[in-house]
Amino acid sequence: MGKKDMNESDQLFERAKKVSPGGVHSPVRSFKGMDRAPVFFKSAEGCHLTSVENRRYVDFCMSFGPLILGHRDPEVEEAVREMIGTAWTFGACEPYSLELAEWLTAELPWVQKLRFVSSGTEAVMSALRVARAATGRKKILKFEGCYHGHVDSLLVKAGSGLAGASASSSAGVSEEAVHHTLVAALDDEEEVRRVFSEHGRDIAAVIIEPLPANFGLLPQRAEYLKFLRDICTQHGSLLIFDEVISGFRVALGGMAEVTGLRPDLVCYGKILGGGFPVGCYGGRADLMDQVAPLGPVYQAGTLSANPVGMRAGLVTLKKMKSRNLWSEINGRAGRFGADLKAGFAKHNLPFDVSVESSLFWIHGKQKEPIRRVDRLPADQSTGFKKLFLGCLDRGIYLAPNAYEVGFLSAAHGDEVLSQVAAQVIEVASELEKTTRG
Ligand SMILES: *Cc1c(COP(=O)(O)O)cnc(C)c1O
Repeated sequence: MGKKDMNESDQLFERAKKVSPGGVHSPVRSFKGMDRAPVFFKSAEGCHLTSVENRRYVDFCMSFGPLILGHRDPEVEEAVREMIGTAWTFGACEPYSLELAEWLTAELPWVQKLRFVSSGTEAVMSALRVARAATGRKKILKFEGCYHGHVDSLLVKAGSGLAGASASSSAGVSEEAVHHTLVAALDDEEEVRRVFSEHGRDIAAVIIEPLPANFGLLPQRAEYLKFLRDICTQHGSLLIFDEVISGFRVALGGMAEVTGLRPDLVCYGKILGGGFPVGCYGGRADLMDQVAPLGPVYQAGTLSANPVGMRAGLVTLKKMKSRNLWSEINGRAGRFGADLKAGFAKHNLPFDVSVESSLFWIHGKQKEPIRRVDRLPADQSTGFKKLFLGCLDRGIYLAPNAYEVGFLSAAHGDEVLSQVAAQVIEVASELEKTTRG
C-alpha cells in the first residue's frame, strides 16, 4: 500500500511502530487480531471520540473505565483548569489529597485508612506487600480470569499438577516471582477448600475482582463471595477486593457495598482519578499502619496524590453522589442490554449480551451463566472480530478485543444508545446473511 492510499491513522501507526513496541503504550490498544490498524483519535467530548480523519465515533471503551461522567465533563474540567492554575505537584503535604481521603473514608466504612498511588497496578502491588507483612505469610491465592494489573507475582496462569500451582504467563517473570502465587478457578468452592487445606497456614491473602470484568464479564454468585470471606477469616488470611473497575461504578461503594461483605484491604483506580492517573489501596487501620513512615512496609511515589487527579476524582465522585447517577446510568445500561438481547433473539443471531451495572459484554450464545474461564464461548474471538469491524465502520468504537467489556457513562444518553443498539443488530444480521449465503 503506497503512502497516499493510507489514511492519516495508518500513517501515524507506521510512525508509531518505529518508536514504540507494536506502536502502542498498552497492548490492547493495538487492534491485534482485528485485521486492521488502530484508529488514532485527536479529541473527545461526552460519549464521542473524533479521529485524526475528523470522523466521529460513539465511544464504548471510555479509556477502559475511568470516564464514568463521559469525556471532559464540564464540572470536572473546570476543577482541573482551576487546579492547573494553582499547582501541579508539590512532593509535599497539601490539602487536596486530604479532602479526597476524608471523603472516601467517610463514604466507605471498610476503608479506615488509605494511601494514594498512581495506578491500579501500584495499588495491588502495595496491598500484597502489606498483606504479606501483616500476616508474616508468603502465599497469595488468585483466580483464573481475574486481572490485577501487571504485577510480576500475579502474571500467572494455572499450572498443572498440585492444586493451586501456577506458572508465569509473561516472559521476564521468573519462576521464583510466581512461586508463592496459587491459582484457582472462579465459582468453585471445592477447589478453594482444597487449596486452603493444603496451604491455608501459608496464605497471606486471597485477591479477587469481586465482579470479574477483565476476561469477559464473569459475575460471581453472592454466596461464593461470602464463602471466600468466611474461609479467609477461618484461616487468618486477608481478603483483598480488587475494585479497580467495579469501585465507584457498580455503586459508590463498589461490590463491597453491593454484597455487604467487608474486605480487609481494597484497591481502587480508574474512576477514582476522574480520567487522571490515580489509584489507592486502603482498608483496616491496623493493616494500613504497617505502611511507611509509620510501619515497616516501604511504599512511595514521586507523583502520588497528584493534585490534578485528586481534584478530578473528588469532583467526579461528588457529582455522581449528589445526583445519584448510578441508578440513571445503570438503568440506561439495562435498557441498552435489553434492546440488544431482543434484537439478537428476534433475528436468531449467534450473539448475546451480559450486563452488570454500566458494564456490558457482547459474546457468543451460551446456555449456562458464564462465571468462569472454561465456560467462555469457544468462537468468541472470530465472532467478535467481525462485529467489531462492522461497528467501527458505522462509527461505533468498542474496545478492540473480544474479552474486554464495554463501558457506559453518564454521557451515553438513551437516544444514542437505542440508535447504537439498532446498528449493532444490523451489523450482526448482515454478518449472519454473509455466513448463511
Ligand atoms: C485496570 C485494572 C488494574 C490495573 O490498573 P492500571 O491502572 O491499568 O495499572 C488492576 N485491577 C483491575 C481489576 C483492573 O481492571
